[in-house]
Amino acid sequence: MTDTLEIRNLHARTEEREILKGVNLTLRKGEVHALMGPNGAGKSTLAYVLMGHPAYEVTEGEVLFKGQNILELDPEERAHLGLFLAFQYPVAVPGVTVANFLRAALNAKRQAQNPDDPGISVLEFRKLLTEKMRLLGLSPDFAGRYLNDGFSGGEKKKTEVLQMAVLDPEFAILDETDSGLDIDALRAVAHGINALRGPERGFLVITHYKRILDHIRPDYVHILVDGRIVASGGPELADQLEAEGYKQWREEPVSPAA
Ligand code: ADP
Ligand code: MG
Repeated sequence: MTDTLEIRNLHARTEEREILKGVNLTLRKGEVHALMGPNGAGKSTLAYVLMGHPAYEVTEGEVLFKGQNILELDPEERAHLGLFLAFQYPVAVPGVTVANFLRAALNAKRQAQNPDDPGISVLEFRKLLTEKMRLLGLSPDFAGRYLNDGFSGGEKKKTEVLQMAVLDPEFAILDETDSGLDIDALRAVAHGINALRGPERGFLVITHYKRILDHIRPDYVHILVDGRIVASGGPELADQLEAEGYKQWREEPVSPAA
């Protein structure tokens, strides 16, 4: 299937202990899934494992996309296949502008998909970038700034969303650091994500707080507690969580749906 990303019985650990204890989750294009859970549940670990972070060992399970187990691919190959994992490039790169970085990233992806692709020209790219920046409500001078160099939390997040817009991935996994965002930055990031929603793209929005979900109405909400998905439902699940907290799932974990 080319239109699903399927996480099957995923177990992952660090040297010390097991963190993911059998995660099952199927994302389809056109859908926005939110993954919520208390601190330490393993949400970021899931994002890191999907991106191929070396700190985590997968001991069981698979993640299927386009007929492949992506866990066997290196992070770049996963990106070139059509996955977008925020935090791929978290470091500041003084001397490299946002525009140059994004053009290089887009050309790397295009050339991985087709070695004969000559890459996008500077002029063509400028047009594309201007269009995406307008879509996301970013001011034009942003493109000329050095990547993540002195960026605020909000600007880093906006850069990620811009990167996503330029790379046009089929599935995007966003590990929100909503706690670092003020309300304007949060709205801008949510607006950007909403602008990129569509039948050709699926999202996994990982968040600790319901706050961002008031702006991005997800189609499905999943609750991760202690390395397992303990509940799945519609957006009302996030409302219930807000009202009642995670306590009910901590005390009586149910087995995840197969
Ligand atoms: P969440 O994002 O849901 O808050 P994390 O995935 O960050 O949870 O962490 C889950 C648990 O695994 C925590 O107890 C955390 O301390 C531990 N953990 C995560 N990454 C590492 C790591 N690289 N080394 C050691 N322990 C880790
Ligand atoms: Mg986290």
